[in-house]
Amino acid sequence: MSHLIPIVEFAKRLVQHHHISATIFIPTTGTPPKSLVSVLESLPENIHHQFLQPVNVDGLPKDVRVEFVVSFIMQASLSSLRDALSCLKSKTKLVALVFDMFAHASMEVAKEFNLFNFLCCPLSAMALSFTFTLPKLDEETVGEYKDLPYPVQVPGSVSFHGPELMAPVQVRTDEVYKEYLLLSKRLSLVDGIMVNSFEELEQDTILALPGGTPIYPIGPLIRSEPSNGSDWHECLKWLDDQPSGSVLFVSFGSGGALSLEQIHELAHGLEMSSHRFLWILRSPNKVSFASVFTDSSQNDPLGFLPEGFLARTVNRGLVLPSWGPQIEILSHEATGGFLTHCGWNSTLESIVHGVPMIAWPLYAEQHMNAKMMTESLCLALRLEMDENGIFRKEEIEKVVKELMEGDEGKKISKRLKELKTAAMRALSIGGSSMESLSKLVLQLN
Ligand code: UDP
Repeated sequence: MSHLIPIVEFAKRLVQHHHISATIFIPTTGTPPKSLVSVLESLPENIHHQFLQPVNVDGLPKDVRVEFVVSFIMQASLSSLRDALSCLKSKTKLVALVFDMFAHASMEVAKEFNLFNFLCCPLSAMALSFTFTLPKLDEETVGEYKDLPYPVQVPGSVSFHGPELMAPVQVRTDEVYKEYLLLSKRLSLVDGIMVNSFEELEQDTILALPGGTPIYPIGPLIRSEPSNGSDWHECLKWLDDQPSGSVLFVSFGSGGALSLEQIHELAHGLEMSSHRFLWILRSPNKVSFASVFTDSSQNDPLGFLPEGFLARTVNRGLVLPSWGPQIEILSHEATGGFLTHCGWNSTLESIVHGVPMIAWPLYAEQHMNAKMMTESLCLALRLEMDENGIFRKEEIEKVVKELMEGDEGKKISKRLKELKTAAMRALSIGGSSMESLSKLVLQLN
């Protein structure tokens, strides 16, 4: 979802403002999730979508990393993509193939069809900047990055200690690393890169990106259609009854799950803070990237809450199992804070709606996003872990109170109001991201 949405929103802008039509090809392993289908079914008429031949992943070892599974699916979908493009070519004039970071192997296909090839980077300019530096870092480093005695400086942004770097680069002998390194080497070979950010947010980083490959900051690309789902009206109705800016929204993206111990600490911390909250809760898992490929719906997540928690917080808290209408929640008047895993989509959605954040990174490049949000952009508060890697209830209580009622929270809120306006400006006619999009279209002509 978090990779599909930027592509979908990019396609919408393109067809709306530039009279270009688009077809979105989606690799699958079988029946696609309902949430994904509902996004695709709400597309405007001049954006088509087509599922590629399902890929069988049953033969893959069970403990393989999710990034590997996705790359495998992408690779195995190439011949189906070729067939789909051949068919499309017989009906229309093809100009460019735009691919997601996981789908960089489709560059070859773009060449075969004599098409421009563009990367649609769903990450921040900071993460893109880091990816550009990876080939050099790889050459210069012996051993694992986590053991580096010095931090890695990302051009135009913050520096990161090895363990904070994105998950795909943590184990250099892993296939996932090799795949990411290959992507990083290919960045200079593509015809252009669209990045889901905007000048007013990451100007220094965007300016520091290497010359050569045209870079188009065209964000913030966030989902613009309302979500479907009858149960969700209940939570929006609940929000209608809460005072303005009083509710802390707690959610860990499409795949984030916490351990049982951490769920309990969070529940107690929320309870002790005395603030209102709306929590999207997923069943516990030892691995934080849990529910993307496994169906955790067999377990009722609410059953994992501490004894009596729901009854004690009934007047000021609502817990929804597994999934909620995030955009609608963030845009609701009652929402005053967001405890987030710092996925880039969630981060942008919070910025666009001017909601101050608490950073609780779990996996992927979220630790990098969290550091940028807390240290460089000052749009979020950070939580300190204890020596066992757990955020304790007292820490959660303290930081929630600081965000919802403290001076730091007020400062962040003020800064976010300005950025919210800047984000709207970037996407309006003549704004920086709209200008970027026009330059991209010029390159296509
Ligand atoms: N999302 C949602 N409801 C949920 C959880 C997530 O609508 O309960 C959406 C969220 O609005 C965002 C995306 O799923 O657009 C998650 O993307 P993000 O990059 O934040 O995190 P990821 O899922 O990649 O970890």
